[in-house]
Amino acid sequence: MAKLVVSKFGGTSMGDADCMLRSAEVSYRQGSSLVVVSATSGTTNDLIALGKTAETQSWPDAEKILTKIQERHLKIAGDLRLPADSVKLLETLFEEMSSLAKGIHLLKDCSVKALDTLVSLGERMSSLLFTQAMSQVLKKHNSEKTAELLDVRKVLRTDDSFGKAKPLTAEVAALAQKHLSFLREGQRVVCTQGYIGMTEEGNTTTLGRGGSDYSAAILAEGVSADVLEIWTDVAGIATTDPRLCPKAQPIREISFKEASELATFGAKILHPATLLPAIRKNIPVFVGSSFDAEARGTWVRKDVEDHPLIRAMALRKKQVLVTLSTPEMLYAHGFLFQIFKIFNDHKVSIDAITTSEISVSVTLDDSTLLNKKLIADLSQIADVQVEENLALISLIGNNINHTAGLGEKIFKAISDINVRMICLGASKHNFCFLVSDEQGPEAIRRLHSCFIEAGSEEMA
Ligand code: ASP
Ligand code: MG
Repeated sequence: MAKLVVSKFGGTSMGDADCMLRSAEVSYRQGSSLVVVSATSGTTNDLIALGKTAETQSWPDAEKILTKIQERHLKIAGDLRLPADSVKLLETLFEEMSSLAKGIHLLKDCSVKALDTLVSLGERMSSLLFTQAMSQVLKKHNSEKTAELLDVRKVLRTDDSFGKAKPLTAEVAALAQKHLSFLREGQRVVCTQGYIGMTEEGNTTTLGRGGSDYSAAILAEGVSADVLEIWTDVAGIATTDPRLCPKAQPIREISFKEASELATFGAKILHPATLLPAIRKNIPVFVGSSFDAEARGTWVRKDVEDHPLIRAMALRKKQVLVTLSTPEMLYAHGFLFQIFKIFNDHKVSIDAITTSEISVSVTLDDSTLLNKKLIADLSQIADVQVEENLALISLIGNNINHTAGLGEKIFKAISDINVRMICLGASKHNFCFLVSDEQGPEAIRRLHSCFIEAGSEEMA
């Protein structure tokens, strides 16, 4: 039986008609059966701006954004010679967009729920156009396959946390069985939307910004795919962000565990949740560039051939360190429980943590500070100190907590940079520490030179 390949293309791969045709060509060559697409580049931002403008500004201001979004899609539709019935569908989506914006404007209320339905139009428009591009490419190659559009909301069931909905895995699997069991026959190429889903009650949801990768992974899990491909505008995962360090190198292969740490600790290339479904079903993930499909890209899988001590490093900017102290913690228990309970009540995720007898320090994204109630609640049980403008550096690799001399090598490389906090020991795959935001890029460049450019073999 043919391999079942699920491919996802991001916004830049949907940028215009040429980008769509290039992406469709990649899907054809890879033999994809299910293609998941993002909104055309910039459209999700524009739709959010449309919602906010409709809520707070004059209607003509909102209409300007509406027109801009429509023109962008009409241009692609024209370039792809979209057939009349699809043009009708596109116009229906335009009408929905305009009615929703009008409703928001009249109510002066753009709730997260309303915004989810509004932004879902980005993916619904791009997937409609992409289906036409796919169709053209299949015809050009005299393929017997046909391209068809699927409304992913029939399959991607989520809870009702609007703006950041959680996919319901068991329901998705059952719905995939119902609507997509023909995929393995390899005769139809289904084109669908990333990022969006639907609740049991029929309300449209989104999985959070950048969520199309995650959608593709959830669908790949649901249809038990053999391969998940994430096509973007860079040729795979690099040893560090090339914008920070020009000597960053492409990674050929990386394990699920290392890649999960890398995605969580700042590498922007994959949505952090993407690997969870792939790990659950052991589906290898390929990350490549739709603009340069010949470039080798990166394979993320369970078992990899080499296990370097340091494979990659990431920088997560705009971190804050919150230190909670209380003398009452001396010889007491339950303090950590109380702290975590407060973070949990506010649904705030903690990244790194260290403790002493009477204090606990945790790192958080600086946007968390906007939650004044969180800080007030923490102040009820401890003295709270907040330090801002920090950056979290993570070194990702193997056997990190069992390698003598690693600490010396790291701190020698950055001996003149103050390290504010260190987290080591919890994972074999991660060593992370905080420095000032300003010194973060320099620290990465030095560590990259020391561990990646010079090679880490002698210590691995
Ligand atoms: N279009 C959505 C966004 O821009 C989802 C995605 O691109 O993955 O966030
Ligand atoms: Mg995107």
